[in-house]
Amino acid sequence: MAKAIEQLLVLQACDQEIRRLRKEMNDIPLRRQQIESRLNAHQEGLVQADHALLEAKTSIKRLEGEIEEARRQIQKYRDQQLQIKSNEEYKALEKEVAGVQQAVRRLEDQELAAMEAVEAAQAAVAARREALAKEKERVDSEVRAFMERSAGLEGDTRRREEERKTLAATVDAAWLGRYERIFAKQRDAAIALVEHGTCGCCHMKLSPAQIVDARKPDTLTSCAFCGRMLYLVP
Ligand SMILES: [Zn+2]
Repeated sequence: MAKAIEQLLVLQACDQEIRRLRKEMNDIPLRRQQIESRLNAHQEGLVQADHALLEAKTSIKRLEGEIEEARRQIQKYRDQQLQIKSNEEYKALEKEVAGVQQAVRRLEDQELAAMEAVEAAQAAVAARREALAKEKERVDSEVRAFMERSAGLEGDTRRREEERKTLAATVDAAWLGRYERIFAKQRDAAIALVEHGTCGCCHMKLSPAQIVDARKPDTLTSCAFCGRMLYLVP
């Protein structure tokens, strides 16, 4: 294998590491957001439980108002009864009173059910709050651990970049220029190993002439399909 290719392979390993480190750094805000988004469902659950509790409390208030109103109505009928002389009218009012009393009992049953609903809703709110607090603790510690791991990335990248400068200085300028252009375009590698007569990166079958050229230590051969620099392991 040509010395230049050997040097470029070392440089490429360094470039790939720099690329990986940079991507990891760029992904920090997104990954942090992903960890924190685990709280969304819990927060939403708490909002819903709070809402259900408020609704149950509101319905108690409404029923209390209706019961009070019905009792005032009964009192009104009672007052009217005191003023009338006819037995028939008295009985008619008695019937009205009985009707309203029945309505009051129904409202009281509903109020009881609403009180039970409030208790259930309060328990649900407490459970949701606790679940959220526990998850928040887990998420916070995960975020802390993640940020600690990420703290070294910048230093690692800088060190790798220094290392890269030193490595690049040793490579033939023409080969380096060619390599850099290809590496900038390719997501993985600029140099491909010839394996079983095919390009190790794009896996296309190479012509015998290309393989012969790739074997020559001082010839820079590129894959006719993907443009990557080719090399063979002797
Ligand atoms: Zn190729």
